[in-house]
Amino acid sequence: MIIVLKRDATQEEVDHIIASIQEWGLEADISRGKEQTVIGILGDESVARNKPLEAFPGVDHVMQVQKPYKRASAEFKAEPTKIVIPPVNSKGREIVIGGEEIVVSAGPCSVEGRDMLVEIATKAKAAGAGILRGGAFKPRSSPYSFQGLGVDGVRFLTDVRAELGMPIVTEVMDTRDVELIEEYSDIIQVGARNMQNFSLLKVLGGTDKPILLKRGLSNTIEELLMSAEYIMNSGNDRIILCERGIRTFETYTRNTLDLSAVAVIKNESHLPVMIDPSHGTGIRALIEPMARAGIAAGADALMIEVHNNPEEAFSDGPQSLLPEDFAKLMQGLEKVAGAVNRRIGGR
Ligand code: PEP
Ligand code: MN
Repeated sequence: MIIVLKRDATQEEVDHIIASIQEWGLEADISRGKEQTVIGILGDESVARNKPLEAFPGVDHVMQVQKPYKRASAEFKAEPTKIVIPPVNSKGREIVIGGEEIVVSAGPCSVEGRDMLVEIATKAKAAGAGILRGGAFKPRSSPYSFQGLGVDGVRFLTDVRAELGMPIVTEVMDTRDVELIEEYSDIIQVGARNMQNFSLLKVLGGTDKPILLKRGLSNTIEELLMSAEYIMNSGNDRIILCERGIRTFETYTRNTLDLSAVAVIKNESHLPVMIDPSHGTGIRALIEPMARAGIAAGADALMIEVHNNPEEAFSDGPQSLLPEDFAKLMQGLEKVAGAVNRRIGGR
């Protein structure tokens, strides 16, 4: 950490800063330039990070040198993290997120019933989807919108999971539901709106299921990594980071899919990255090009919303692909995946 002093900082102020740094068990290294004087803090930066250094008289600003996240950082673990999901049953296969295969999770935005889920999942699996997604507890902007089928939705997901041998991912919104979702799902999703629900993140740190952590609507990549750090620091290091679009001034698309996040996270972290072009664009026609771009940028996984009757969907119909369009998209992705030495789904 580097403290840049004000030009008119007095010797008394400088001495007080240095004495405080030493009191915290750290070393201070002062360097006086012609224009500016700076104090370098040597030692465990996290100690100094918890002190209000900018409140000290004579301090102009403070710059951090070490990353605020540790366990999530690429420095902490050289090898990329692979998340292994064992076969659900004899009809299933092992899924590895972060390996050679680009894992595709597909399914409806909301679980609306058993029959629709069976139909969508059967077709998605045939097209190469490795994981079935579906919301049972839905985070809706309006309390009057469909809130999800709750426990019944989870039951339908587990039925289809057993029937098709497909692992499932579903969202948990409330700490009170963590036990239920942990028991029945293969991956627990934290939605964009809960990315900084720190109590939820800490509870999820105590579970032994992988966590799909979606980037918040207006959160930086560093904040996403810090949220992963919360879960890891509480004991669970199996996390998939998901870029699902952020809020910008652009209104053409529902969100702005930040593809640079894939490359940034790959540089900064060992955790696997998923791209969600469905919520990222909100527009059916843009899902395939953005899925391709995500793979080219280095994503390990995709999330695509698929519905057998988007016109009647309880949520996110406009961005949902018909199963046959999803199958075409999967075929089209093969070449792009091949170009970056990956392969799509179970193909
Ligand atoms: C979802 O994936 O079902 C969802 C609600 O997405 P997000 O949290 O990214 O809005
Ligand atoms: Mn949705």
